[in-house]
This record gives sequence, structure tokens and C-alpha cells, in this order.
Amino acid sequence: MTNNIVINKEFIVNSLKEMAKLSEEQRDYWTSLDSDIGDGDHGINLSIGFRGISKELDNLSNNTTDINSLLKKAGMILLSKVGGASGPLYGSFFMKMGAKYPDEEEISYSDFLVMIMDGIKAVQSRGKAEVGDKTMIDAFIPGYEVLENYQVGDDPYKNFAQFIIEMKEGSDSTIPLIAKKGRAMRLGERAIGHRDPGSESSWMLMNVFYKELLKRRDENE
Ligand SMILES: [Mg+2]
Repeated sequence: MTNNIVINKEFIVNSLKEMAKLSEEQRDYWTSLDSDIGDGDHGINLSIGFRGISKELDNLSNNTTDINSLLKKAGMILLSKVGGASGPLYGSFFMKMGAKYPDEEEISYSDFLVMIMDGIKAVQSRGKAEVGDKTMIDAFIPGYEVLENYQVGDDPYKNFAQFIIEMKEGSDSTIPLIAKKGRAMRLGERAIGHRDPGSESSWMLMNVFYKELLKRRDENE
């Protein structure tokens, strides 16, 4: 039973709704992280972006039959509404997620992992950051490696839990770093001791997918 996870439009719609809720709850926290080493708008930007998605979500969902179109539209809203670095990065993430699965209304857990990995690749090619630059890539890449190693037959819930753990630890790993990308670069050594805000929001947003997966498991038990 546990390996028969089906990812459908409802899963994606619920996830986007929960991400919007999370962005409101964490707005001030994410913004305070960005105030320490950036321009103090990270939480505000994400809350504006996900409010935009929320507002359109019913419409999008009613007029969309496949997962890819829905994700693409959500990504376009983030791209057009969100300022700073995070808008284009998260926008690319969602826009590229479904690219390999056009017209699919349901996909498997393995396909869902491919989607997330493609989203991460899109973030990396857009931002051109490497691990150690003190960006969201420091969270995404260790997570990517967990997803990459998933084999059909492995426990998907354990796999995704590990993905989140690695991302969270990746975010922790940004604290002692000097920034090599973004506004925090200007601070030089003064960035040491501060967490990268994008690395924090990225694992927290991915954690929404994890919680949605757990809801599916609990419904199936
Ligand atoms: Mg900022």
C-alpha cells in the first residue's frame, strides 16, 4: 500500500495552499533572516507570491486538467509577482517541475521525485550557485542526492523524510559560511554566523510536500 502513492492535481493544489499558509506564518521569520544579511524582504516576497497563487488557485485548478499546467502557472505567478532573487528561483522551480510530464493527471512517487529534481536543477541553472556559496542550493543539493538514490521498493515516506533532514542540515551548514552569491556577498566575514534565508524557506516549503504525503499515507491506512 505505501508504495502506491499517486500524485494528482488535488495533491498539488493542497500543497500550494499549504505553502501559501506557511508563507504567511513564516513571513516575519524569513524576513528577519534576510534583514541580518540581505535586504530584509525574503518573507515579504514569498508571502506576496503565494498570495498571488492562492488568489488564482481555484481558477487555475478549475481550468487545468493536468499537473504540469498547474505547476507552470504557479511558477509564472511567482516569477511575475516576486521581487529579489527568490522570485525567479522559486518561479523556475515550479515552472520546470512538470516539464517532463505534460498532460499527466496522475503520476507515481518516482515521477514526483523526478519533478522535484528537475525543479532543483532549474534553480541551479538560474542562480548559478554551487554548494558552499551560502544559498538555497546548500539545502537543495544534499536533498537532491537523497531523491536520486531512491529505488522503487524503498519506503517513500522514509525517503522523503531523509530528503527533508538533509535539506535542513544543508540550511544549517550555511550559518558559518561567507556568501559567494547575492547581497550577502558584500558583507564578507560579517555574514558568518547567519543562516541563508533561502536555504531555510526552501526546506520548509519542501516540507509541505512531505506533510501532504503523510496525509495520503494516513488516509490509506
Ligand atoms: Mg532579499
